[in-house]
Amino acid sequence: MRVTPSALSLPLPTPELVMFDLDYTLLRPSDQFEAPGYVRAGARFGLELDAGRWPRAERAAYAAAKERRLRIGEAHDDGLLAVIAHAIIEGLGGGPPHAVEETAAAIAAAWSRAENFGLYDDVMPCLRALRDAGVRAALVSNALGHSLEEVVAHFALDDFICASVSSADVGVVKPAAAMFETMLERLDVAPQAAVMVGDSAEDDVSGALACGCGAILLDRGGRAVGAPLPRIESLTELPAALSL
Ligand SMILES: [Mg+2]
Repeated sequence: MRVTPSALSLPLPTPELVMFDLDYTLLRPSDQFEAPGYVRAGARFGLELDAGRWPRAERAAYAAAKERRLRIGEAHDDGLLAVIAHAIIEGLGGGPPHAVEETAAAIAAAWSRAENFGLYDDVMPCLRALRDAGVRAALVSNALGHSLEEVVAHFALDDFICASVSSADVGVVKPAAAMFETMLERLDVAPQAAVMVGDSAEDDVSGALACGCGAILLDRGGRAVGAPLPRIESLTELPAALSL
């Protein structure tokens, strides 16, 4: 990947287009998708899951998702949610296979409903600042289970989001170039005039940089301090990071 040094330090020049990732960038999953929600869902199917094992379960899910990506490659993968849910349930203690299966299916189904998510508090002020500055905003999402149109409608984002590209439609997931290129072609924007903002260093940042776009890691948890990437910890920082 060839990346000019100026693409790695903030602020970036003001772009024409900001492409946003969705999950954990704009959308905050409810506690249904954290330890308390897993324990509640498991109880419905007779499982006694142990919330105290959450960190271990999260690591297991991360490893399972990575292994699945290695096997499947960059193809859009509707089965990934159940794989992640499965790994977390097993990590929290598991139980009889049919109950694990049913709990994983319930969690995966819940992920597809917009009402099980909220917008982070910093989203609307940021989208307003971009709109007021004449910078367009769009969604580029590995949309597992979500319909992007439903998300935009549910959160009344029509005035702020001018286009959406979903891996379900493109057939591949970020970091594949086709995801970013589909958006750039649709809006007739040059890569250098677009910046991707997302919470995944690999899918969002590396993928976009490889296409010649700018990119900023949204590191909400501050886990990537010191990483050689342009990074912010809140969308409150985004306007300044884009020279606005
Ligand atoms: Mg994300």
